[in-house]
Amino acid sequence: MKLKLVVSQYHRKYLDDATLSLGSLTVLPDRVIVAFRKETPKPYAPDSIISLDTNEGSLDGVCLQGNDTRVVRAVYPDLAVIQQRHHDRRRRLQKKKAHDRRTSRTLCRREGRREHHRVDYRMHQVANSVLRFAEQNRSAIVLEDLKGMKFTRNKQLNRRLTIWPRRKQHHFIEYKAQWRGIPLVKVDPRYSSKKCPICGRIPDSRMGTLFECECGWRLDRHINASINLLQTAISKGLEVAGGLRFDPGAFQHDVMMTLYDSARGARSEPNGTRCVQAVT
Ligand SMILES: [Zn+2]
Repeated sequence: MKLKLVVSQYHRKYLDDATLSLGSLTVLPDRVIVAFRKETPKPYAPDSIISLDTNEGSLDGVCLQGNDTRVVRAVYPDLAVIQQRHHDRRRRLQKKKAHDRRTSRTLCRREGRREHHRVDYRMHQVANSVLRFAEQNRSAIVLEDLKGMKFTRNKQLNRRLTIWPRRKQHHFIEYKAQWRGIPLVKVDPRYSSKKCPICGRIPDSRMGTLFECECGWRLDRHINASINLLQTAISKGLEVAGGLRFDPGAFQHDVMMTLYDSARGARSEPNGTRCVQAVT
């Protein structure tokens, strides 16, 4: 049997990839599924570490390179907006089609698919930007282990936290990192958002956007969390560390590198540093 397949540039990219071998070929009435096999490349020995704290509309963290530590960020505030919009739309559909549950279900499902496509697309872009940066700087990536994440009593907030697919974002970053041979570790995030990375105290003040400690350490609370993740990774003696140490004296709070910005589209700017308000 012979089949004529229409192949796009996207498909060609995979067909031409020498590291892939053909796994299986499944022919269905409306499509052909080609499965590939790939030996995952051995992760490289990193020269730097990127530690990222995962938040609702951003990944916030630091990049430790030599003695230097800089702030890195990937921002996508519109993800929550997309989800809220689709949530509202589903609510409205349910109300409007309350007399016809079958139609309501069909329409809601379609709405859900659209939402997923949009969210997935954005998350792929974010993951790709982060990994491009990691590859350019030969970095290892540190993420928080999201297993056993706790929820608060605020129902509204819980819904947002639950539906926000942090795990999916991590999953994308993880499998893409594995595919490209970028070392990645996940660490226990316990106290990462509460602890002072300098003196180890846990200030009992309620948290605003700024983390403040009696010892004088003050920093954006998300960035602070990422430093704690970084230190956990290093203290565990993980091989990603490669002799690197976080030095608060050499930390440049005032220099931020944007890995991804949904307002400006994905961009990588290895040298394009930008000053933000100094937090000292
Ligand atoms: Zn302190």
